[in-house]
Amino acid sequence: MYNLRELTALCEKLGCKITPECSLKEYTTFRIGGPCRALISINSAVSAAEMLKYLKANDIRYGVLGRGSNIIVSDEGFDGVILLIGSDFAKITVDGDTLKCQAGVLLASACANAQQRGLTGLENLFGIPGTVGGALFMNAGAYGSEMKDVVVSAKYIDENCNICTIDAEDMDLSYRHSIFSDRNCIITSVKMKLEKGDPAEIKKAMTECMHKRSSKQPLEYPSAGSTFKRPEGSYASLLIDQCGLKGMSRGGAQVSEKHSGFVINKGDATCSDVLELCEDIKKIVFDKTGFMLELEPVILR
Ligand SMILES: Cc1cc2nc3c(=O)[nH]c(=O)nc-3n(C[C@H](O)[C@H](O)[C@H](O)COP(=O)(O)OP(=O)(O)OC[C@H]3O[C@@H](n4cnc5c(N)ncnc54)[C@H](O)[C@@H]3O)c2cc1C
Repeated sequence: MYNLRELTALCEKLGCKITPECSLKEYTTFRIGGPCRALISINSAVSAAEMLKYLKANDIRYGVLGRGSNIIVSDEGFDGVILLIGSDFAKITVDGDTLKCQAGVLLASACANAQQRGLTGLENLFGIPGTVGGALFMNAGAYGSEMKDVVVSAKYIDENCNICTIDAEDMDLSYRHSIFSDRNCIITSVKMKLEKGDPAEIKKAMTECMHKRSSKQPLEYPSAGSTFKRPEGSYASLLIDQCGLKGMSRGGAQVSEKHSGFVINKGDATCSDVLELCEDIKKIVFDKTGFMLELEPVILR
């Protein structure tokens, strides 16, 4: 049973920050969603394991959040505890051409760190606005590269609250999928193997990548990035365009005029607006093209 006093005492013992009745809107790039019962900022693998033990023993619902860039939180919020894997758990260590990141490291920081050390392999992922943990969970990718190309191993807390290690070949990494999507685990660190390269060339590639993003994507509006996964044999944005849905809206949610693969928050969108708009898009696209679109972001409710 949920007991705020007990949970606060455990957070004090572990040195983790706790924010009761925390609005999750502020913790997602879509800027929508209600509160959770408490948001706890994890600071180590041991804290994550201890916290998980407590939550499971007391039958308290929990969710894991990185940068919140691929999450849609319901308007009612989440009736449980959110474990934030963010800036309190964000150390990078480098050993030769291997980068080891705690799960809360921003992917952008990992890319910048690699560039400064003349390590190549991450440049195409520069600009994906999430944590390294979230990127592994989603097997994030862009411009022909994905996490799968660089990950060697990861540490995680399993369903029995043990700290475990897993090699990349056992992670079942595929398009926007990892073994972690099917299990209730917490990724705590990720090891990536890069290659020696020229810092100036790497920097140039990162700048080009960022330029492509800002010229094509509606980065000026809150969103969760691509709203739908790429269906086999086509592209979600192409299908949405072909169906004439650019600019279509529901309340404050709109199919971006700049990139029809993005549903954006025009300012006051609710989760219901977004999900209803997505349902309309899916239905119209299916009726007109026969392609069934699937949401890419994870829904937290
Ligand atoms: C403008 C924009 C552009 C984007 N472009 C791209 C792109 O080019 N390519 C791409 O692949 N994605 C893209 N995304 C989506 C998103 O940035 C990625 O999926 C990112 O990797 C998610 O990381 P996160 O830390 O924000 O995860 P969150 O959104 O916080 O979480 C996503 C899922 O991962 C789980 N999770 C997060 N951290 C952990 C952890 N440590 N342990 C266990 N589970 C965890 C969460 O529970 C949730 O289920 C974009 C998003 C935006 C807003």
